[in-house]
Amino acid sequence: MKRILFTLGVLAQSAAFAATNPGNPPPATVTFDSQVTNPSGSQAPGDQYIFFAANAKPGDKVGEDPAMNLAKLTDFSVAIVSAPFGNCQLMPPEANSPNGVKVIAPGGGPIVATGILACNRSGDDKKYANLATFRITNPAVTSFSLWVLDSTTKVNANVNEGLAIRVNGCAPLAPCATVKTDFGCEFSKFTITGASVSDVYTVAVLSSDGNGNNRTLAGLTFSVIPDPAMAGKKFPVIEQQGWNDLNKNGKKDVYEDPSQPVEKRVDNLLKQMTLEEKLGQLNQLVSGDRKNDMPLFPLMRRGEVSSYIWSRGNPADRNQFQRIAVQESRLGVPIIFGMDIIHGATTLFPIALGLSCSFDPDLFERAQAVAARETRAEGVEWVFAPMCDLARDPRWGRVAETCGEDPYLSSLCNAAQVRGFQGKNPASPDRVAACLKHYVGYSAVTGGRDYNDSEITEWTLRNAHLPSFHAGVNAGALTIMSSFNSVEGIPAVANYHTLTEILRDEWKFKGFVVSDWLAVEQLVNWGYAKDKADAAALAINAGNDMDMKSEAYVPNLAAEIKAGRVSLATVDEAVRRVLRVKFQVGLFENPYVDEAAYNSAQKQPDGIALARECVTKSTVLLKNSGILPLSKDLKKVALIGPVGDDHREILGCWPGRTSWSKPTLATALKEALPADATLTVVKGCAINTVPTTKTLQDGKIVPDESVPPTDADLKIDEAVQAAKDADVVIMALGEPKGWTGENASRAFLTLSGNQQALFDAVAAAGKPVVTIVFSGRPLALPAIWEKSAAVFYAWQPGGEAGCGLADLLVGNASPSARLSMSVPRDVAQVPIFYNHCNTGRPGSGQYRDMVAMDAKFWFGYGLTYTTFEYSPIRINPSANGKPAEAVVTITNTGKREGDEVAQMYIRQMVCHEGARPNQELRGFKHVKLQPGEKADVSFPLTGEVLGYIDRKGKPRVDAGEYEIWIAPSAHNGKSVKFDFAL
Ligand code: BGC
Repeated sequence: MKRILFTLGVLAQSAAFAATNPGNPPPATVTFDSQVTNPSGSQAPGDQYIFFAANAKPGDKVGEDPAMNLAKLTDFSVAIVSAPFGNCQLMPPEANSPNGVKVIAPGGGPIVATGILACNRSGDDKKYANLATFRITNPAVTSFSLWVLDSTTKVNANVNEGLAIRVNGCAPLAPCATVKTDFGCEFSKFTITGASVSDVYTVAVLSSDGNGNNRTLAGLTFSVIPDPAMAGKKFPVIEQQGWNDLNKNGKKDVYEDPSQPVEKRVDNLLKQMTLEEKLGQLNQLVSGDRKNDMPLFPLMRRGEVSSYIWSRGNPADRNQFQRIAVQESRLGVPIIFGMDIIHGATTLFPIALGLSCSFDPDLFERAQAVAARETRAEGVEWVFAPMCDLARDPRWGRVAETCGEDPYLSSLCNAAQVRGFQGKNPASPDRVAACLKHYVGYSAVTGGRDYNDSEITEWTLRNAHLPSFHAGVNAGALTIMSSFNSVEGIPAVANYHTLTEILRDEWKFKGFVVSDWLAVEQLVNWGYAKDKADAAALAINAGNDMDMKSEAYVPNLAAEIKAGRVSLATVDEAVRRVLRVKFQVGLFENPYVDEAAYNSAQKQPDGIALARECVTKSTVLLKNSGILPLSKDLKKVALIGPVGDDHREILGCWPGRTSWSKPTLATALKEALPADATLTVVKGCAINTVPTTKTLQDGKIVPDESVPPTDADLKIDEAVQAAKDADVVIMALGEPKGWTGENASRAFLTLSGNQQALFDAVAAAGKPVVTIVFSGRPLALPAIWEKSAAVFYAWQPGGEAGCGLADLLVGNASPSARLSMSVPRDVAQVPIFYNHCNTGRPGSGQYRDMVAMDAKFWFGYGLTYTTFEYSPIRINPSANGKPAEAVVTITNTGKREGDEVAQMYIRQMVCHEGARPNQELRGFKHVKLQPGEKADVSFPLTGEVLGYIDRKGKPRVDAGEYEIWIAPSAHNGKSVKFDFAL
């Protein structure tokens, strides 16, 4: 019987092929080997056979625009053979489709489906194009086979890497058999076991041209539209009036009742959970983690997956995963999806190190609100940001993700990010839960080498590394990530002092702590845990609630409880913290994301405008001979360097869901220059030429293939000629974005590849050079500082880099940013930061072979397009005669409007608790002044402003003498001293 149906299907397809392909021989017969042609012999009774075929006319050209090309691709035929077909739900027609395709169903009833060109676009390298999607609607069918005919049009020889079956968007299943047809196509057989009614199967083509450029392929997409007749039969009905029956018992339990207080709901749910389900709530996995995610589905059905790191960015896939947890697990506890959205999702903002240079926490809040909107719309309700680590060593690649070297500025920026992500109500459809990371001391890694140990004293921990986390907790952050490093010899993921004594006991943090990636099991590598079970016990006992990716808790903690090494109360408390956050982000009311709303949340004009503003406000002007802003009379401009017309390096180390930036600096500058000016763009050299290495998780060192090993682009002569022909040269130089961020430490703070040679040659051409440095860390570039007429430090500015920088260059915007991290003269000086101790011998301790001891540019430094003058500081008393505020008058002494960032630094002259730094930022204000205009800027002198944290974690201020500066940067300006009385 099956054989007959199969043949009918092929015949139907052959007929359709013949009808629509006049002149081409129809596929008369298809031959198979005996095993395949006799499926009943090799398959279990009840197996389903489903055939899809998509044929385009030979010679059809398929372009990028589906609308344009669809007309040419109407001649598909699709044959479906199945016995009985009733078990398989195929998509009903999309109304009004001009490209309806006949689907021949068993029993002869035609089903019309919509043929859509599957077309991958620029930047979509290695993505799947869906050809057909279906669902098995009979719960009794748990295993089946299907055959797929691959006859997609291959526009380029290498666009099609073959057909695949994906389940719920997971990594593809490989075919278990393939057979060539006599008309040149290929049938592939896929066998699926462990099927469930909530799984969605997709027949897909993996397309790739290997270089991320445009590619297209013809195919056929069917959309799955749930069959209304089947609704209610497939799944238990969860949705009730205003609540969800998650445990499917037909009544509203307290945990399902949105009107109940969160704590009561948590308690009620906890009471219903088995130990296995509780441990499941402490388990975080990674989507696409295993070659095929399917083995995870049974875990989800058992309630053993609490969270996914959702790298796919696909709301439909996400809902499919969620459906398993909610519809099919006993208690229906939703999964919380998390992701590294650090400086934007589809709208990309400057990296945090750049944005902190705005000295504008409000800007951070607004930027992260946009990121939250875009992220939540894809079904991710938790972001692993902000990063509260303190940046003191530029060799460490992750300084890019920090808000710089100062605890005060960092605290304000990180609290603002928390507000931006979470808003007033993290359950809103445009907000997400924030995660403060990496707790704590990660940035102090020895030698600036990622993952190294950290030596931090309690004094430095309290006053340098912890304040930013504390500010984030006070701003309401719902979660925290423990870090990879050790503190006092104890790895952070198992550090009771930091995770429990400080975080819970002192700060009263109520959210949950997630480990960093594999950090629980890596306790064994540290030599701190004996094995994975020991590691699990140590981590949870210390206060680390959720295990990211190690899968150490679920299999081990029940035994650890039994053995008395972990208490049930400890597990309950950890689960309580996780559930609390899930309630707070609204997952129990809204477990699914509205897939249709995705697009309207992405890359909206307000976000793009804000990202552009962020570029102008985070780019630091380090030098200006007067050449900036560029004169309107310039006729010939040369833009030289590998970043000038670059789409990727400017994006930054966490480019979210973006892989391509438009426009580039070259395009934007052309637009911004006067119409009669010409812009010559020369790359000159590649951003990197050195074969570089990266270390894999297993410690293996391999070449980093993301950078080319040779510089085929090296064209220094062409660059020099362009410079000679120009009135002014703009050089766009820096380091690859892949050299910044995680596991991207550097030994040298230089330009990569041949860029220094390019700069030297171009600078020697004698034309004024404006250099823009793109980097995720401060680089030590003496020749650039010296030979350039002007220098912008642009960091990694994100998606709107081109427009924002063009605004600054031509003067449509004015620079106001200040360095949030000092720029050393040489790597030999690092770590170097402005808020160091005075020591017993201030000014001594020079290097024998390096005279200068100061930084090239200190924290807080940055120029504007005008000049400002500061009056002496006045200390004003309050009514009781005690010093109450410090005031300066600032005057704009230049010729343009400017935004000055006045910074207040303090020093406590004597402190018996421990020596305090010789300068600490404790206030800043933006003052916008017209030429000649002046304004008073004041800062309060309260105990809170002057104080510190003692070794027991208590805020404290001492009476005594203080020194104070109000100045345009650290180690700058005149100070006054005053006495502070309690
Ligand atoms: C990083 C974290 C990140 C996590 C999840 C880790 O390797 O250290 O910053 O949030 O991976 O992607």
